[in-house]
Amino acid sequence: MKDYAKQLIKENTIFDTISRQEEVFWLNDKCLPFDMIDGLCQLVVSDKDIQDAEARLSRFAPFIKACFPETEATDGIIESPLQEIPAMQEALREYGSSKLPGKFLLKMDSHLAVAGSIKARGGIYEVLKHAEELALATGKLKITDDYTILTTPEWKDFFGQYTVQVGSTGNLGLSIGISSAAVGFRVKVHMSADAKQWKKDLLRSKGVEVVEYDDDYSKAVAEGRRLSAQDPRSYFVDDENSKDLFLGYAVAASRLAKQLAEHRITVDEDHPLFVYLPAGVGGAPGGVAYGLKRIFRDNVHCFFAEPTHCPSVLLGMATERYEDVSVRDFDIDGITEADGLACASPSGFVTRMDRNIVSGDFTVDDVRLYEFMRMLSDTEDIRIEPSSCAAFLGPLQVAKTPAGHNFPNGHGITNEKLQNAAHICWATGGALVPEDVWEEWFKEYKLPR
Ligand SMILES: *Cc1c(COP(=O)(O)O)cnc(C)c1O
Repeated sequence: MKDYAKQLIKENTIFDTISRQEEVFWLNDKCLPFDMIDGLCQLVVSDKDIQDAEARLSRFAPFIKACFPETEATDGIIESPLQEIPAMQEALREYGSSKLPGKFLLKMDSHLAVAGSIKARGGIYEVLKHAEELALATGKLKITDDYTILTTPEWKDFFGQYTVQVGSTGNLGLSIGISSAAVGFRVKVHMSADAKQWKKDLLRSKGVEVVEYDDDYSKAVAEGRRLSAQDPRSYFVDDENSKDLFLGYAVAASRLAKQLAEHRITVDEDHPLFVYLPAGVGGAPGGVAYGLKRIFRDNVHCFFAEPTHCPSVLLGMATERYEDVSVRDFDIDGITEADGLACASPSGFVTRMDRNIVSGDFTVDDVRLYEFMRMLSDTEDIRIEPSSCAAFLGPLQVAKTPAGHNFPNGHGITNEKLQNAAHICWATGGALVPEDVWEEWFKEYKLPR
């Protein structure tokens, strides 16, 4: 164990619990009233940046529709349903012996088109932005053009001169790989040891070059970054630092606001919104949370969910060492069934951005992931992958917290207000999981280590 970790464990019991790989519910003491940090935040990622990202995705919608027929119904916009899950809420009540008032919803990024995970947001956005920049620089594309022209063989040949590379535990690779291949880029995905075989197989079937590492995610990213830097025609999607990925995720917020309105769910001072987001390196949940804060300010409370065996974003924020922390510094093994969350070190960019924004972070034992996966399937007939299922512990943890003073900037969340709350569990992946893998997952509960 690193010396600084030993010291922190002595000073604060929560670090002891974290290092013992037991479940914790951490309330962020530095979550600030949004007005206080709004100006500073906008210097880094402004409302205008998010609107630009939205506009770019609209420009590419005809292209996306042409490449991916499954987006026909949404006219080339990749967006997921927001669904009420009353039967799951009932099951969670029983599971946690908790009243769990309010309305429960599932944001089904598990079923996003193209990549079948939340990575369809950031990953595809960054690939398209890179493609647009290259194409505009030739002078042969104007932003007012119909981007379906980018599907012609001439453009494919043009993009074929360039390579996109990325490090991934699996789902980001799928998103970048599939979208880059559609554009015509050559693609190399550097996969950590946690990556599941079927994800590698699927990528190879799309012509993506998969490089396998016998090491963790941070190593796969470092190698990918290093190799990409040697090739002037190669572009590296840097999950640990990318503002573009962040923007792609942040776009979710305005779309969610519309869906909440369709469900006639009010978000205001008397009707708080709680959102639970599974976190790996922090990019996807961080971008979504940031977008939500920009819209709902202090009326939204975002919590990250991580495996007890890989709480890297929690450690990054709680130690304030940000990217300069690894779960191994605390003798935590980083080994988890939640492959999508198996990142030993967090994104420095995102953990810094979100340090004053997220309300808290909680860790979840692996065995619960399978319990929640089964529960959701039994009650709502929806299948989402184990990583995603970490979110469901969130409402139970919040319910256990005495309402009011304990919430950082909960602005006096009273029991009365909790009756009116909406809780969104963010389902982050699942649609591309092959049938035989589902069968194995459902055959029996995995036992805890
Ligand atoms: C990647 C991923 C996450 C978390 O995203 P990060 O950007 O790594 O924090 C959550 N769930 C699933 C299924 C994922 O693939």
